[in-house]
Amino acid sequence: MICPYCRGGFEEQGPSAPWACAACGTAVHAECAAAHEGCVTYGCRSVELAPARLSARRGTLAPRLPLRTRARAALADSLAFAGAPLSAWAVAAYALLGVGALALRLG
Ligand SMILES: [Zn+2]
Ligand SMILES: [Zn+2]
Repeated sequence: MICPYCRGGFEEQGPSAPWACAACGTAVHAECAAAHEGCVTYGCRSVELAPARLSARRGTLAPRLPLRTRARAALADSLAFAGAPLSAWAVAAYALLGVGALALRLG
């Protein structure tokens, strides 16, 4: 289990303690969530995170993510790997999602 934002490991306590997203369950460092201004999962816009227990469940801190979410995370990873800054892609995606949601709401 590593932080999806900084790729660093977690520790039981201290600055490397895991925080879990209330929406998707992704574990992330509090510092990283703060730097990202919310959940760092690609497509998840939650800003609700709570301290998580590292040893609550062996191997899996968070519930298994839906395949779709994992696929999107993998896509984000590949984009980041290709040299594009992930945050720029995330901002663009969030903007598109926001426009889409607004359009849906307005009918
Ligand atoms: Zn981190
Ligand atoms: Zn999330």
